[in-house]
Amino acid sequence: MNNFLLDESVFENLGSLAKADVMLTSPGGSYEVETFNDVLYLTLQPGKSNNTKFDEEASLNNKDKNLLLSLISVIKEPAQWDWSAISKYFRMEKVKRWCKNNGLPAVDYDIRRIAIRLDVFCLKTATLYLAYRLWQVIKNEDIDGINKYSAILFDHPALDKSRPWYEKRKRMFYIQSNVEHRKYHATCLFQPILNNQLKNLDLKISIEGYSLYLEAESIFDLCFFHLANMIAKGEKEGKNIKECKGCGDLYTGHGNSQFCKYCNRKTVWSRENPRPKNKC
Ligand SMILES: [Zn+2]
Repeated sequence: MNNFLLDESVFENLGSLAKADVMLTSPGGSYEVETFNDVLYLTLQPGKSNNTKFDEEASLNNKDKNLLLSLISVIKEPAQWDWSAISKYFRMEKVKRWCKNNGLPAVDYDIRRIAIRLDVFCLKTATLYLAYRLWQVIKNEDIDGINKYSAILFDHPALDKSRPWYEKRKRMFYIQSNVEHRKYHATCLFQPILNNQLKNLDLKISIEGYSLYLEAESIFDLCFFHLANMIAKGEKEGKNIKECKGCGDLYTGHGNSQFCKYCNRKTVWSRENPRPKNKC
């Protein structure tokens, strides 16, 4: 098999999302968790007006990491990760707000509603979150972090634990405890997880627009691409990722910026210092 490396100019145009899916998952409206046929779904409530303007250009631009960062910020990591209980780690109010701002990240067509199964939403988002964390700890050579996130990802439900590859990888990881060794084997675990998600992207050409572009079927696929793109850019990438002092969400900001766009200084100040109500 041959490998082709895409040059920088190609990457400028990558990141287009299929129009049809943007329409289906358009933002606005309100979202609830509901049960259909004994399965929990995150559903768009019928009849609610759609008054949020989807910033398609910003979301689809592969240089903007905020789509990915805001999605993984809906998780509150527990002290002990348990794959069978991950929906508990999701802050549902944040999940609903994220969907209101961005639309559903993917749509399941098994019920007559615009909806996604809650377990699918949680699994995909958790995978993105853990892949992001593992990348950070590998980059920072944080051995405790590498141990922690590798152990969680070794238990990932999508990994086929009966394959010899899996046993070998796990044994190799634990055989020595030095940073370089663990870093290398964590990377070997991490790569197939990301590559598996990147398979969902289609490289296409637009003859009219003289451009190559990637087509993603869902916002999840786009977020995996954003993450892979960040990793591909090297060690310095991700330096401007910050944790908002107002809400704890991850976002990109320059210099001394401390708040995400939803809680800039003014908004936080007025929330903490409410104006006294006029008596008359
Ligand atoms: Zn914030």
